[in-house]
Amino acid sequence: MSQTEKLEPLRAVIARYGLAADKRLGQNFLLDSQLLNRIARVPGDLENTSVYEVGPGPGGLTRALLSVGAHVTAVERDRRCLPALEELSLLFPEKLQIISGDAMTVDEAQILGKDIHIVANLPYNVGTALLIRWLTVKTWYPWWRSLTLMFQKEVAERITAKVGSEHYGRLSVLAQWRSQAKLSFTVHRSAFVPPPKVTSAIVHLTPKAQPEQTSLATLEKVTAAAFNQRRKMLRQSLKNTEGAMEALEAIGIESSRRPETLSVEEFVAIARHLDSSAPKAA
Ligand code: SAM
Repeated sequence: MSQTEKLEPLRAVIARYGLAADKRLGQNFLLDSQLLNRIARVPGDLENTSVYEVGPGPGGLTRALLSVGAHVTAVERDRRCLPALEELSLLFPEKLQIISGDAMTVDEAQILGKDIHIVANLPYNVGTALLIRWLTVKTWYPWWRSLTLMFQKEVAERITAKVGSEHYGRLSVLAQWRSQAKLSFTVHRSAFVPPPKVTSAIVHLTPKAQPEQTSLATLEKVTAAAFNQRRKMLRQSLKNTEGAMEALEAIGIESSRRPETLSVEEFVAIARHLDSSAPKAA
């Protein structure tokens, strides 16, 4: 019998430890092992790789990751879940490290090595913030090798949207500046306990080898100004962004264009131009 077959059904673990979902922690648990196995296959073969999981909860996705042979480090904020996770770690000796804490503040460099696959059914309240944290790590090439993350479908569409599409915006530019981002599949709300209000989707991101250098702050400033007035031409939306008109002209971008027509590379080129022409601090 494999270790996975020895496991008690997840529902029974949840009942035994009284893990009623807590809304404040964004708890919507996945119990369907086929679906969990499908998520664990998205990054490719994980056998003997290191995986970082945020928010394991009662451990459904953790089980799927362990059963494909990954070494898992999991950070969980809800202390109620720790005994169930400890129990799982006994069945998979040396394969599961559990950290009690907040993924927003945990010292990732301290607890993780390099070449890490991050796989998580994220709490929605911190999902985008964590994605931005991982996309904007100081040293590039990053310590993570891939991100396989659950988001609300609408957020997943924004992350992966292509130039010219209705969901294309700030998050698409930021994500695709530094990664290849793909929507893997959607997950119906009925798959979760309790069901959230909206459909979810799995996004898979891999880091670009050498994204153009620019400062995150400048890129955010330009995309915020441009997309906050989505229907306006750049000459209108960027008129208060110092140096932006000169940048458009220097790069050869028509100021009559609207933001959703600008590729990620064009936004990055504008940010780079602003960075290079900004007065240097003495
Ligand atoms: N992975 C489980 C699953 O797929 O069924 C649970 C997913 S549930 C959507 C999100 C989990 O993240 C919960 O267990 C919640 O307690 C945990 N969580 C919420 N905020 C967190 C944070 N800041 N750091 C670590 N875990 C957090």
